[in-house]
Amino acid sequence: METIKSLQLKIYDLIVIGAGPAGIAAGIYAARKKMSVLLLEKYFEVGGQLIKNSLIDNYPGFPEISGFELSQNLKKHLVKIDVIIQEEQVIKLRNNNNLFEAVTTKNTYKSKSIVIATGMKEKRSGADGEEKFIGRGISYCATCDAPLYRDKIVGVYGSGSEAERTILELLPFAKVVYFITDKKYDTYNLEEVKRNVKSGNIIIRNNTSIKSFEGKENLEKVFIKTGKRIEELKIEGFFINLGYSPVTDFVIGFLKINNKKEIIIDLINRTSIKGIFAAGDCTNYPYKQVVIATAQGAAAALSSYRYLHGL
Ligand SMILES: Cc1cc2nc3c(=O)[nH]c(=O)nc-3n(C[C@H](O)[C@H](O)[C@H](O)COP(=O)(O)OP(=O)(O)OC[C@H]3O[C@@H](n4cnc5c(N)ncnc54)[C@H](O)[C@@H]3O)c2cc1C
Repeated sequence: METIKSLQLKIYDLIVIGAGPAGIAAGIYAARKKMSVLLLEKYFEVGGQLIKNSLIDNYPGFPEISGFELSQNLKKHLVKIDVIIQEEQVIKLRNNNNLFEAVTTKNTYKSKSIVIATGMKEKRSGADGEEKFIGRGISYCATCDAPLYRDKIVGVYGSGSEAERTILELLPFAKVVYFITDKKYDTYNLEEVKRNVKSGNIIIRNNTSIKSFEGKENLEKVFIKTGKRIEELKIEGFFINLGYSPVTDFVIGFLKINNKKEIIIDLINRTSIKGIFAAGDCTNYPYKQVVIATAQGAAAALSSYRYLHGL
């Protein structure tokens, strides 16, 4: 069993940041190349966005598998080949005499190369109180949390078919769903949405924004704004559905990123700094899928191997 001190004293061949599909694949490929590798993941559970995917039916070899089960399979693979996983969030990268330093909220680790595989996260609404109530009434994943709101009044903020899908996931559980959208929502793509608007199970507020979330321990109400009118809704659950953005804040100003904040990579996953590679959803590769993230993770680890051996 390695101690934190011994982990910090070591100079790894590779540090992988993020244990979603891309980071796990990078860890597996690096270990198979006999590279010393440390995987840093901010959450206790590995798997990244996979954990939130109820069903994956497009990952080759698995015609139908839940995201959670696939993430558990990936974890087993990592454990089998002894990749060390540390539960820590990287907040900064430094380049020090051809060695890289990954600074986490607790420690600093050193390596000769890095693979960044930090994926994407849900966009925030920016309303007051949002951060405070995440996990205490505010959620970004109806698939994960809809069953928690049986017979409760909930809200959904967003637009388009994604928001409609969120509403449909909530309807079997919630008493009433308020659908708040900053657009004018007068076309219902899905029959079931249309029916539930008629019967009053879905209440729509068009051209409306979120002002603030309030409550003591848990979310109790949301204040919304339509034109000049402010309305208070008593609500216990609120689902924000504004899409995703790459998790790259900690490399802004260090690596080249594009206007979507994606890390720019070349064909073999090299970034703008030699020795640093990136893979999966955090990159400018346009397709965000599990099979692509794992393939890129593998490619990034192999590119790191080539870099270390001057190939
Ligand atoms: C609801 C939903 C359904 C989807 N359905 C499908 C589907 O059916 N089929 C399909 O192919 N794809 C699907 N996807 C997309 C797929 O999940 C992603 O393409 C894939 O997970 C990307 O993998 P990744 O490893 O690049 O990033 P992620 O899965 O986002 O993993 C990134 C990891 O990095 C960690 N991390 C982030 N920042 C730090 C940091 N600073 N320090 C340490 N760790 C950090 C995160 O905690 C996370 O574990 C879906 C996505 C969502 C959200």
